[in-house]
Amino acid sequence: MSNDDLVLVINSGSSSIKYQLLDPETGAVAASGLVERIGEREGAVEHRAGDRTVRRTEPIADHKAGLQLVFDIFAETGHDLAGAGVRAVGHRVVHGGEVFYEPTLITDDVVEEISKLSDLAPLHNPANVTGIESTRELLPGVPQVAVFDTAFFHGLPEAARTYAIDAKIAAAHSIRRYGFHGTSHEYVSGRVAEVLDRDPNTLRQVVFHLGNGASASAIRGGQPIDTSMGLTPLEGLVMGTRGGDIDPGIIGHLVRSAHFDADRIEELLNRNSGIKGLSGVNDFRELQRLIDAGDDAARLAYDVYIHRLRRYLGAYMIELGGVDAITFTAGVGENSAQVRADALAGLSGFGIEVDPARNNAADRAARLISPPGAPVAVLVVPTNEELAIARAARQVVSPSSGGVRRQHRMTGTKRVEHARADGGDMP
Ligand code: AMP
Repeated sequence: MSNDDLVLVINSGSSSIKYQLLDPETGAVAASGLVERIGEREGAVEHRAGDRTVRRTEPIADHKAGLQLVFDIFAETGHDLAGAGVRAVGHRVVHGGEVFYEPTLITDDVVEEISKLSDLAPLHNPANVTGIESTRELLPGVPQVAVFDTAFFHGLPEAARTYAIDAKIAAAHSIRRYGFHGTSHEYVSGRVAEVLDRDPNTLRQVVFHLGNGASASAIRGGQPIDTSMGLTPLEGLVMGTRGGDIDPGIIGHLVRSAHFDADRIEELLNRNSGIKGLSGVNDFRELQRLIDAGDDAARLAYDVYIHRLRRYLGAYMIELGGVDAITFTAGVGENSAQVRADALAGLSGFGIEVDPARNNAADRAARLISPPGAPVAVLVVPTNEELAIARAARQVVSPSSGGVRRQHRMTGTKRVEHARADGGDMP
């Protein structure tokens, strides 16, 4: 693998940077790593290249310092990114608002627009922008592409994307359902069609992305018709630290009765709800250990989690007019046979069955877990957002390598031409 074939994918969080250097053609990973605790007293980098792992702990002042450290380690381990160059850098950006709905070559204007969207994603977009700006400074000659978590869901039907609140207020504040984890839902649903050897246009799919964050989507003929996350990644399924759907009246009640302010409410909804709020732990493996030890709160958290999954499955089956494939992905979806079995228990009347041996097999590949010949295919498909982002970035910078370059113009904050990249997807 020479460097010019490779794409560097960067996912910047508020105090962390996840990265991967990979070949978008084959998916082969040359190196990957994680920078953590940026801005704290002691930061850390773990970098893996082949069978070599480099670990550093030292103060990392900001994202630029973190990336500089990563690029130094890259140079030491045989990938001089700044010297030899890479084909492109792909950045995961959480919120594209109504402005961005396809992978977009990053310019000063694009960075400014992404910054302006920070009101919609205050926990995510500012960190994404910091990562982009630092990378542009450190790798000035390399084209950089933003790939948006919301993009796949841009074309949701109006009835699915509209909140039933005062339309003028909604319009004035860009309030609509955007959806997140789009790169993952798009990638996984595409893989489902490949695994089943079916034309994606003929499939009605429900995809469950169950990681720390969790979302469901209903996809007909390759296009999403509904998804569980909304204006923010708080809506929908029960997650590690987010509760998903709640009665919005809870917020007014807490403001009046417990004098919560906006920050405290956000803290509650983003960090102290979901599995964590109910059981005290946010990691699913720990939850399972607590359940095995007879912990009632953990059991209830699990039951609420499964109840919500089933509610969304039912809703999406009706919206789709039936379902051909149900797929589980991300940390919990790929690894917890129990969750998959419980989510789909008792549905054989709908043609939905999970084969216990297939479900429990220790197989890491994309695979069917329904019995042979079952009317509804149930699958486990590992997500690969990095590969999807790398492919999308590669396609933007070299349209000849597998797709037509999508052009767009922005007028004010509205994009006037719409075309999606087919190369991949994401969160
Ligand atoms: P992700 O955000 O996709 O990295 O997923 C993280 C979640 O996956 C955490 O809640 C983990 O506990 C969960 N997870 C990872 N491995 C397993 C496993 N073997 N069994 C159950 N949950 C797992």
